[in-house]
Amino acid sequence: MDNNPSSFPSKTGDPAMTMTTADYIRLEEEYGARNYQPLDVVLTRGQGIWVWDVEGNRYLDCLSAYSAVNQGHCHPKIVETLMTQAQRLTLTSRAFRNDQLGLFYKEICGLTDSHMVLPMNSGAEAVESVIKAVRKWGYRVKGVPEGQAEIIVFSNNFHGRTITIVGFSTEEQYRDGYSPFTPGFRIVPFGDYAAVEQAVTPNTVAILIEPIQGEGGIIIPPAGYMSKARALCDREGVVLILDEIQTGLGRTGKMLAEEHEGIVADLTLIGKALSGGCYPISAVLSNKAVLGVFQPGDHGSTYGGNPLACAVARTAMRVLVEEDLIGNSARLGPYFMEQLAGIKSPHVKEVRGRGLMIGVELYPDAGGARHFCEKLKARGLLCKETHENIIRFAPPLVITKDDIDWALERIEYVLKT
Ligand SMILES: *Cc1c(COP(=O)(O)O)cnc(C)c1O
Repeated sequence: MDNNPSSFPSKTGDPAMTMTTADYIRLEEEYGARNYQPLDVVLTRGQGIWVWDVEGNRYLDCLSAYSAVNQGHCHPKIVETLMTQAQRLTLTSRAFRNDQLGLFYKEICGLTDSHMVLPMNSGAEAVESVIKAVRKWGYRVKGVPEGQAEIIVFSNNFHGRTITIVGFSTEEQYRDGYSPFTPGFRIVPFGDYAAVEQAVTPNTVAILIEPIQGEGGIIIPPAGYMSKARALCDREGVVLILDEIQTGLGRTGKMLAEEHEGIVADLTLIGKALSGGCYPISAVLSNKAVLGVFQPGDHGSTYGGNPLACAVARTAMRVLVEEDLIGNSARLGPYFMEQLAGIKSPHVKEVRGRGLMIGVELYPDAGGARHFCEKLKARGLLCKETHENIIRFAPPLVITKDDIDWALERIEYVLKT
């Protein structure tokens, strides 16, 4: 593989040619809102599992943009579709129809066994949209008194950053200073079935849950928990919404993480890898006709369902299947996890995960996951801590066993020193 960035065309006279890492960081600090604290690496190019910084250093990307880049950076087929479609038609708005939307619907329904689709842009918008849909369903179909609908959500959840969504977060920083919040949510402990059962009332319209809590620290619920929740929803006439924005599309070794649990959600949210990192697109997938409550004018989005997004997503989904990336995640995830668990480090408390969604939890006195991420960066691995003490390993699903071995050598070194 060519890993020399200087062989890439760059316009002469481009100020970027003379800028250093420190210069780029200074610009961001001077003009940007400070709502992130990134690792100090300035990336300029990506290909497959690799990214390069402006100094020409190469890194294995173990975050995959929070699992948006499952297909690998700049996948040639997805990029080709992006360029071709960009020259043909990019945006019509939903005031008119376009020739990509219906095909996108049909293909995604085929892949996920769904019946109806609502296309949006970001993950948070998919969550907002599903909240609207289940509330309306509650009033129109279930017969909940107007204004009384309740949605059950879980401690340690992550569903995005809008006001309504952070209103039911249990992460203090996500909420601090943003009140007042949207009412109508009940928060129960994740993984405690009795608590969910007790929280259901006649006004409960939906349960919104991540099959594995990603931002929460790669938390897998106890065996049988999700199937009991499914049965509860059936019994009580409650809609089961799975937020698979991070777990979906092959990350856990299945197309959807619900398959590990042997259940089928009524509504499934996907985003992130739906475009392979090439364009923002998300979707609400419906297995029952909950989405059928929307009438023309009830909901909308200017960019939602645009032909560029749909074309890109169609190719990104095709790549997942054609390149057997889901199988690769299922095969290599357990290997990666086993090898990580075999590292004899005094710092590691637990290794857990499914497929290539892996968390390494460190002991609180290990010095913090961020510190290990900095050390991994210096050795050519880009990882992101989640919470104080968990390092997440979620490389693009195009990774090979040799690449994992390359990563393991470095992870072992860092965890042992
Ligand atoms: C990332 C994420 C979201 C929010 O997606 P955005 O595109 O950042 O709005 C929602 N739910 C889960 C589980 C996520 O991981």
